[in-house]
Amino acid sequence: MLHPVATSALQRSIDIAQLAGLRLLILDAYRQQQAQWHLWDVCPDANYDVPPAQGSNHRRGVAIDLMLLDEDGRELDIGTAFDAMESQSHPFHLDVAQPAQRNRLMLNAIMLGGGFVGMPIEWWHFELPAATTYPLLPDHFSCVKRKNVS
Ligand SMILES: [Zn+2]
Repeated sequence: MLHPVATSALQRSIDIAQLAGLRLLILDAYRQQQAQWHLWDVCPDANYDVPPAQGSNHRRGVAIDLMLLDEDGRELDIGTAFDAMESQSHPFHLDVAQPAQRNRLMLNAIMLGGGFVGMPIEWWHFELPAATTYPLLPDHFSCVKRKNVS
């Protein structure tokens, strides 16, 4: 479900990571509208998630969430858990220890080298530049209807 431009960029990032003996673990990529609604139900905070009616760049197939692994597949310390909705998840937060800062910088360099840009509040999220210019993809897994939550 990744857009072909993002697929090429991700391959470049994978190749760059291998130069340093590192690997990338994809944690989230294409996200159907229903999943976006579930996330919004849990965390209706526009600072950390796009309101579902607006359409997420994950739904455009141009955003990807990743973790950095060592050559043996072990997750590197990056300061917070994936999807931790807290200020320490901001890429250059002052309270994050130096080893995690270095790992975040490595992840940023790897993804930037591939052609992605990061965002100021989530160390794990990268997307193509001008991501909102890509069209929203149709929901391919919409057989389950969203329940109304009030
Ligand atoms: Zn993301």
